[in-house]
Amino acid sequence: MAADTKARVKELTEALKNTYHITPGLAVVIVGDDPASRVYVNNKKKACEAVGFVSEEYALPAETTQEELLALVETLNSKPDINGILVQLPLPKHLDDKAVIAAINPQKDVDAFHAVNVGKIMLGEYDFLPCTPAGVMEMLHSYQIPVEGRECVVIGRSNIVGKPMGMLLLHENGTVTICHSRTKNLAEVCRRADILVAAVGIPKFVKADMVKEGAVVIDVGMDRDENGKLCGDVDFENVKDKCSFITPVPGGVGPMTIATLMKNTLKACKLQNNIAD
Ligand code: NAP
Repeated sequence: MAADTKARVKELTEALKNTYHITPGLAVVIVGDDPASRVYVNNKKKACEAVGFVSEEYALPAETTQEELLALVETLNSKPDINGILVQLPLPKHLDDKAVIAAINPQKDVDAFHAVNVGKIMLGEYDFLPCTPAGVMEMLHSYQIPVEGRECVVIGRSNIVGKPMGMLLLHENGTVTICHSRTKNLAEVCRRADILVAAVGIPKFVKADMVKEGAVVIDVGMDRDENGKLCGDVDFENVKDKCSFITPVPGGVGPMTIATLMKNTLKACKLQNNIAD
């Protein structure tokens, strides 16, 4: 699915270049040397190349100041050849990620983390959707998994995954419960789910006894197991035979997130150039 989405973006990008002589551009800013962030940034760069975008990487040292980072965001805001700006999170602790996100021009906020875009999503009138939850919704649509009227349980309430995930399921008329670290009787709540989304950040957190027979299980987690191997928030081996659909890690939500980022950047480019979608 991710490959199909990127192929479609590539096709539309070529059309844009041929008709309007415009090439979408994405700037990715990374501060410090977090190895996981480095992998994500490399994957995003590769995806940009594959679909024919211009990609600019700004790798800043860990000791970068807030002022320096904000100045870079301002520069990128005013660069006409850059349509999307992505600041890779998490930032080093001395930097204020909220202020950095607030400084990004909402029209270039292809992660949809800016308060303007978050508010638009809440109202259901958005330009961009955050890449991870949007990728999940696209998977549900593609596999014709209905949401309307079904019990949807999201574990995790972060601003980048859990909360927008809950909102998108609600927009499609799911009955949504968002769980977090203070939720009581978590296993019992999860067992109600027809659609269970795990965005916790704890390896193999969701066990088979938390999953209803026949449920759809979406694993957003990108964790490391006891051997340092990439795994998800779901105990895949023990859950997979109990559910009707399950997304693997690696290879599930992650690639869809990047494909959605490409779609958002193309859309940003069209919006900024007043080209109909
Ligand atoms: P986060 O900001 O750390 O949020 C984790 C959430 O899980 C919090 O809401 C927390 O509750 C909740 N939680 C923690 N322990 C819990 C427990 N014992 N019981 C119930 N809830 C618990 O993480 P995130 O940024 O949302 O990311 C979640 C996972 O998704 C991570 O593995 C991350 O690497 C992955 N991720 C993947 C992609 C992708 O493209 N595939 C994209 C983004 C993130 P509180 O709010 O109460 O603390």
